[in-house]
Amino acid sequence: MSDVPETLTQKEWVAGLRDGRLLGQRCSACDNETATPFAACPACGERALETIELPTTGTIYSETMIAVAPTAFEADYQIAIIDLDTPGNARITARIADDVDIGETVELVDVLEVTDPVPVFG
Ligand SMILES: [Zn+2]
Repeated sequence: MSDVPETLTQKEWVAGLRDGRLLGQRCSACDNETATPFAACPACGERALETIELPTTGTIYSETMIAVAPTAFEADYQIAIIDLDTPGNARITARIADDVDIGETVELVDVLEVTDPVPVFG
């Protein structure tokens, strides 16, 4: 993965998502992976984090239906926590295009532009 930023910021994460890429971080101390930017590893607190490009495919870990939506969103819709296809334990919360169940495989299919872009899997 050639052109990943050395330090992943929210701005770069958003730019990556708009290009159909999922950027994340890998901890240099414990190899924990995250699918969104952190200042320090959420598993061990290490601050040396390497930017990585994550696969855009994964498996539904958990899902729920949103019946009462926050401002700018229209209910009802399904969101899910997706275990990305990576050896670390990077998970991402995303909007779901169609109905999915736990254990189903999904991929990044779209980006929903609200105030900030939201990944859509299906
Ligand atoms: Zn760590």
